[in-house]
Amino acid sequence: MQYDYLIIGGGIIGLSTAWQLKHRYPDASILLLEKESDLATHQTGHNSGVIHSGIYYQPGSLKAKFCQSGLEQTIQFCREQQIKYEQCGKLLVATNQLEYLRLQDLYQRSVANNVTCQSISKEALKDLEPDIDGLGAILVESTGIVDYREICIHMASKFTASGGRIEFGYPVLNIEENDTQISVTTGNGTRGAGMMICCAGLQADRLVKLHGLKPQFQIIPFRGEYYRVSGRFSDRIKHLIYPIPDPAMPFLGIHLTRMIDGTITVGPNAILGFKREGYGRFNISVKDSLNMFTYPGFWRCIGQHLRPGLTELKNAWFKSAYLKQVRRYLPAITPADLSPHPAGIRAQAVLSDGSLVHDFLFKETRRSLHVCNAPSPAATSAIPIGNYLCDHVRDNNPNR
Ligand SMILES: Cc1cc2nc3c(=O)[nH]c(=O)nc-3n(C[C@H](O)[C@H](O)[C@H](O)COP(=O)(O)OP(=O)(O)OC[C@H]3O[C@@H](n4cnc5c(N)ncnc54)[C@H](O)[C@@H]3O)c2cc1C
Repeated sequence: MQYDYLIIGGGIIGLSTAWQLKHRYPDASILLLEKESDLATHQTGHNSGVIHSGIYYQPGSLKAKFCQSGLEQTIQFCREQQIKYEQCGKLLVATNQLEYLRLQDLYQRSVANNVTCQSISKEALKDLEPDIDGLGAILVESTGIVDYREICIHMASKFTASGGRIEFGYPVLNIEENDTQISVTTGNGTRGAGMMICCAGLQADRLVKLHGLKPQFQIIPFRGEYYRVSGRFSDRIKHLIYPIPDPAMPFLGIHLTRMIDGTITVGPNAILGFKREGYGRFNISVKDSLNMFTYPGFWRCIGQHLRPGLTELKNAWFKSAYLKQVRRYLPAITPADLSPHPAGIRAQAVLSDGSLVHDFLFKETRRSLHVCNAPSPAATSAIPIGNYLCDHVRDNNPNR
């Protein structure tokens, strides 16, 4: 079977691209291949559900650019599709002097990124959130919450309603490219296409290899573990409450998140995963672990982040240590307030020198584009990323 475009991956990046590509080219034949039996089964369906405002990111980076327009476009999409969302706002809370200094830097960065926010005094913080302790905070009113899986369902139905096709249940096993087409093989047969866009998240490096290319990075899975916070805080905590991140670390620190269904979660931490798509704490894959341990970049990465890595591990294993981090800004929380909540796993691209890739990373050939690193806030940014990928295939399609 021959298609104009073939997309791999039914997470939010693949779906956003598929829907927008079909919207741009209604007559084009487009196939999306997803190995699971449902949409958004991996990162997209296991995230915090935050629509970020983009204050953290390096000004001028793709992350900063995509996030700002992503916030607006996600909210517009939710309004059009009548998807429940809420702009509850977020407070970034400094709990000690070092964090207070970092808070000032973060404020400057938000100004550089054109994100509207307010500096909040200790007293004003108490007025806004009586349960939260801190020396000061930044309030970002535009930050919101949503269920990204629901967004995916709507993107998929817009795509299929206009003639796009989704095939579930068969992983891509091989990719071959020649002068006239690109062929993608699953257990269900081989499909040819003019162009392919691969959005495989936790498997991104393996798909690059299946294509016969050298990845120059490897995906290292970082588990993010959450707890559900007891209902007694549901009406008391009105905003998302974030710590001030350590600028040396790629993740944002464990935060209190109001979910769109009304529950509050705390998390995610960031510890090594031993199975890329295994969500249970004791899930181990020999293949995934061997891939990780035999990659020199992994050991260099461990060497560069040994101390914070060990602290994260201790906090993960001992609930009291995890709780201690939350108590810095929510002193009233007790062990009895925390109950289990499903974990998520981040696909983090690591280079051979051990550095973590912070921005989006793409790899292209004449007839393909691989999304190699799409870290948080890629769910927020999925609509502008999809648009960017559509521009790329428009400008680079050899069949044009
Ligand atoms: C714990 C956690 C919290 C996060 N919180 C937020 C947040 O609050 N806000 C935010 O904006 N972002 C957040 N993110 C980031 C965001 O969720 C991800 O960046 C985004 O979901 C990535 O989407 P994706 O489509 O690239 O990947 P995925 O959602 O992982 O989708 C990839 C898809 O490709 C499929 N696939 C893989 N291999 C194959 C194959 N061989 N054949 C066919 N299909 C294949 C997979 O089955 C999967 O469905 C968070 C991420 C995590 C893990």
